[in-house]
Amino acid sequence: MLSRPVERLRERFDVAIVGGGITGIWVAREAASRGLKVALVDRGDFGAETSAATTKYIHGGIRYLEQYDFGVVRESLRERRILALGAPHLVEQTKFIMPAWRWSKPGAPILGAGMALYDLLSYDRNREAPSSLRIPHPRWMSKKKLLKSVPWLEPSGLLGAFAYHDTLNVHPERLLLAYAKSAEAAGAVLVNHCRADAFVVDHRGEQLVVEGIRATDLLNGESIEVHAGVIVNAAGPWIDSVLATLGRDAGVGVDRSKGVHVLTRPIGGGTVRDAVFARAKSGRHVIVSPWMGKSFIGPTDTPMGGEEIRADRDDVRSILDTVNSTMGRSERPLTADDVELTTVGVRPLIKAPGSEGTYTASRRHELYHHVKQGIENVWTIGGGKWTTARATAEEMVDELFRHELKRLREVKTNSRRGAAFGTFAWARDAGPYLADAGRELVEAGLSTKSAEIVARLYGTEYVDILHLVLGDRRLAEALPSGDIAAQVVFAVSSEGARTLSDIIDRRLIAGTVGRVDRESLEWVARFAAPLLGWDASRAEREVSREDARRRAADFSRTA
Ligand SMILES: Cc1cc2nc3c(=O)[nH]c(=O)nc-3n(C[C@H](O)[C@H](O)[C@H](O)COP(=O)(O)OP(=O)(O)OC[C@H]3O[C@@H](n4cnc5c(N)ncnc54)[C@H](O)[C@@H]3O)c2cc1C
Repeated sequence: MLSRPVERLRERFDVAIVGGGITGIWVAREAASRGLKVALVDRGDFGAETSAATTKYIHGGIRYLEQYDFGVVRESLRERRILALGAPHLVEQTKFIMPAWRWSKPGAPILGAGMALYDLLSYDRNREAPSSLRIPHPRWMSKKKLLKSVPWLEPSGLLGAFAYHDTLNVHPERLLLAYAKSAEAAGAVLVNHCRADAFVVDHRGEQLVVEGIRATDLLNGESIEVHAGVIVNAAGPWIDSVLATLGRDAGVGVDRSKGVHVLTRPIGGGTVRDAVFARAKSGRHVIVSPWMGKSFIGPTDTPMGGEEIRADRDDVRSILDTVNSTMGRSERPLTADDVELTTVGVRPLIKAPGSEGTYTASRRHELYHHVKQGIENVWTIGGGKWTTARATAEEMVDELFRHELKRLREVKTNSRRGAAFGTFAWARDAGPYLADAGRELVEAGLSTKSAEIVARLYGTEYVDILHLVLGDRRLAEALPSGDIAAQVVFAVSSEGARTLSDIIDRRLIAGTVGRVDRESLEWVARFAAPLLGWDASRAEREVSREDARRRAADFSRTA
C-alpha cells in the first residue's frame, strides 16, 4: 500500500533518493530489501515522466547491435528474463516481425546475422520460464506467410521477414507501481509530489559534505529537510539540474532526446497480432505494436533543446510518414485525424564525446561518484533503460555498501529471483490465475472487459478491488475504458494518487488508451473528491485544470 507518509521524511535515513522514475524506484526497492533505511521523493507522480513514455517493451534492444553495443544488449536480455519471471501477469511474449525489402538497409543477410547474434546473446532466455514465457529462436518467414500475418505491408520488393520475440511491458505505469509497493513493503518511505530543491551542505574548506536534501511538499508548500548518509540522484533527464544547485561542476553531462509515440486506429483493421519493426527507405524506423485493440507507433528520437516536453505536428508527421511509406496501396494511409493520443518522453542519454546524435547514442548507464569533484555523499545515475533499471540499482547499492555505507550490515537478498508486488507466483504461467480472478470479478458484477483489466493490472490486489465492489455495488460503475469506480477509490486510498492525472494516467488505463473527455474527468472526481478532502468547488477547479492541461498537451491543438 502506498500511503504517502510525508511526515516520516523527517526521520534520519541511510539513503535519500531524488526521482521516482523506474531508476529511483528500483534503487529504493533494492536498497530497502538489502536492509537500508530509504527515503525517495519525486516532484511529480511516480513514473510520470520518461518511465511512462516508453515503447512498452522489456527488450534486448536488437537495434543497438548496429552500434556494436553488445554489452547493453546482453545485459538487457538478461534483465528481460528476470523481469518477465518476476511479474508474469504484467509482461507478455510478443512476436516481432522485421520485414526485409530489396532496398532495405541493412539488407536481409546482415539482418539475419543480427538475429543470430541476438539469439546467441539470449542463451539463457528460457531458464526456469513457464511455457507462456518461453521465447523461441528467430526464424525466416516467406513473403506469402508474412503478408498473411501483416497484410498492410508494401508487397513490392518485399522478400520476407525475420520473426523474433521480445517482451511486452503490458502497462509500464502499473508495473512501476508494483515495484514501488515492493519498496514500501521493504520499509522505504516514498513520497510523490515532493520536489528536491537543494542539498543540505556542510562546507568544509573546499569540500562540500552533503548531509541531506531540502525539499518542498508541493501539495501544501511546506519545506522539509531530509537527512541521509548518502544521496542518490536519479532524476533521469534532469540529473544535471539537480546537481546545478550545488554551484559546482559535478562532472555530469546529459544529452536529452525527445521520444514521441502515437496511438491510432489499428492498422490492418485489428487483425494483426504481431509487432512490426517498420524501417522505411529513409532509414528511419518505427515499431507498430498492436495494443488494446489499437496501433501504438513510435518512437521518434530527436535532440531536445529547452525543457518544454510536448509532441508537435512535426513529431507526429515523422511517425506517420515513416509507417505510411512501408504500407501497401490497399491500406489506407494514417493521417493526423487517426491519432487518438500522443505520448512524449525525454531519454536521459549519457553525453559521449564523438557521439553522432541521440539516435546512435548508447543506452548504457553510468554511476557518477562525486567525491572526485569534492562533493561527498552524492551519487548520480545517468542513462540506462527501463529494462535495465534493476541491474543499475543492484550496482548502485553495491557501490553504497562499498563506500559511504560500508559500516552498515547488509541483508543478503537477491532481486534476480524476486516477484514484483501483486504477482500471483514467481515464474509461473499467469493464465490460470487471471482466469480465476476474472471469473470471481464477473460474478461480483463486473463486465468481462473490466474484469480482465482488474485481474491483469492488479494481480493479487484484484481482491482489494473485489472487496470494495462487494461493499458498495456502485463502485462497479465503469468508464468507457473499462476502468471501474473501485479503482479510483483504491488509487487514492492505497496507491498514493493525489491528482486526477495520477489516477487517470497511471492507476487506471483510461489515460493511456485514448483522449479523456471532461465528462470522464468529472466522473473520476466524483469518486476521488471525498477521499481527497475536496469540496464541490475544489473538485470543479481540479477538473477544469486537468481538462486544460490535457487540451494543451494535445498535439492536434498545437499550431
Ligand atoms: C520514447 C521512449 C521510448 C522508450 N522505450 C523504452 C522501452 O521500450 N524499453 C526500455 O527498456 N526503455 C525504454 N526507454 C527508456 C526508458 O524509458 C528510460 O531509460 C527510463 O524510463 C528512465 O527512467 P528514469 O527513472 O531514469 O527517468 P524518469 O522516468 O524521467 O524519472 C526521473 C524522475 O525524477 C523526477 N525529478 C526530476 N527532478 C526532480 C527534483 N528536483 N525533485 C524530485 N524529483 C525530481 C521526475 O519527476 C521523474 O519522475 C524509452 C525512452 C523513451 C523516451
